[in-house]
Amino acid sequence: MNPKLAIVGAKGRMGQHLCRLAESEGWGVGAALDQGDDIKAGLSGIDAVIEFSFHTATVPLAQCAADLGLPVVIGTTGHCADDLLAIRECAKKIPVVLAPNFSVGVNTLFWLTKKTAEILGSDFDLEIIEMHHNLKKDAPSGTAKRLAEILCDVRHLQYQKDVMHGREGLVGERQKTEIGMHALRGGDVVGEHTVVYAIGGERVELTHKASSRETFARGALRAAKWLLDKQPGLYDMQNVLGLTT
Ligand code: NAD
Repeated sequence: MNPKLAIVGAKGRMGQHLCRLAESEGWGVGAALDQGDDIKAGLSGIDAVIEFSFHTATVPLAQCAADLGLPVVIGTTGHCADDLLAIRECAKKIPVVLAPNFSVGVNTLFWLTKKTAEILGSDFDLEIIEMHHNLKKDAPSGTAKRLAEILCDVRHLQYQKDVMHGREGLVGERQKTEIGMHALRGGDVVGEHTVVYAIGGERVELTHKASSRETFARGALRAAKWLLDKQPGLYDMQNVLGLTT
């Protein structure tokens, strides 16, 4: 018999894709939960949980899953530092995959972003551009933040201090340590991310464009399967895809 999945945020854009695709990826949908439902009751008899809802919903859900010993895939973005600490606490009791982006292509972009920054060295100016649909609530996107974190790691920079969100007015010349971050919103764009490496005489751009949310849903279902036999801990999609040791 197929393992049973609970989907939290089931009425949302991602939730609907997950409900539709779960069976073809070897899952039974045991619970399709959304705002107003009794989450704890809904998780009884379930083997794993996937959550794509709202940032304030994630920690209560993860705590519930930790009490019940259920693996959780967290797709929601926009968490604050306290949320991330609480998720880390839950991951001491259960296996958790937390990823800002579940697409295989974007996870390849993460890998390429690091490699390219290492190869080009510290003289190149770094900028990140992301674009999403006009209903997206958080900015910059979780994926863009992760790209900036990867660049900060390679260049020994600090996200809070060195990432410059947009530019307006007399901001002065660009600092060598700056990472520019630009969030565009409009239409029905599912998700586009570009990392720009620029120096006098040449420019490298790495771009990923998602044209359907199905890619995130399939990745999340794959992550949930991967979690079924894992020890408690906090994992990401790079672990699921075997892109890290
Ligand atoms: P959406 O607004 O279409 O759907 C969210 C759903 O969650 C809604 O049905 C809403 O009613 C429900 N919800 C809100 N609060 C809830 C609660 N407390 N308990 C249960 N359900 C609740 O949003 P979406 O486009 O499906 O995106 C959801 C989240 O996933 C966002 O944070 C988005 O940034 C993120 N996302 C992540 C990835 C990824 O690959 N990690 C991909 C796409 C979207």
